[in-house]
Amino acid sequence: MDLKNSPGEVLAHRFEQILYKLAHASKTLSEANEIAHHMLIRIKAITNPTSELRLKVVSLPDMEILGRQFTSRIMAIKQDLLQMEELSHSLASEISSGGIKCQTCKGDGVVAEERVQREDDHFIVPYEEYIPCSDCKGLGVLNLPADLLRSAYILVDNLKSTANLLR
Ligand SMILES: [Zn+2]
Repeated sequence: MDLKNSPGEVLAHRFEQILYKLAHASKTLSEANEIAHHMLIRIKAITNPTSELRLKVVSLPDMEILGRQFTSRIMAIKQDLLQMEELSHSLASEISSGGIKCQTCKGDGVVAEERVQREDDHFIVPYEEYIPCSDCKGLGVLNLPADLLRSAYILVDNLKSTANLLR
């Protein structure tokens, strides 16, 4: 078996996909925070136009643009969290049944193998034959040890609730 398709590696890879969404949401939240501070500077510069604030405002987009930038960041965070929820949900349902989807056969339990057939007129015709996947023994699922399953399930079960933050 390819090491990349070992149960532990597959599980780690699936977690990484989920955590990538979280990292992206986190980066976007920092941007939203910065934009919100720029809006605050614009507000302060109206009520208290010190030379320092006026200087800062010069390099900032106007309030309407800042507002649109802020909204687009919040929408992007929502998308990330929704995708995180989806990925966590499907991983949670896989591991709640005791295993994780085999990457080699994508859960089908079979893989296509190229074969060639010689026709009567001596033409060689390629065709695909489906054979049971050797990595998962045709089950489509890689079994995970019980202790790893339990921790993994608690993690994804909690990660999938993050999307509720923005509902
Ligand atoms: Zn397989």
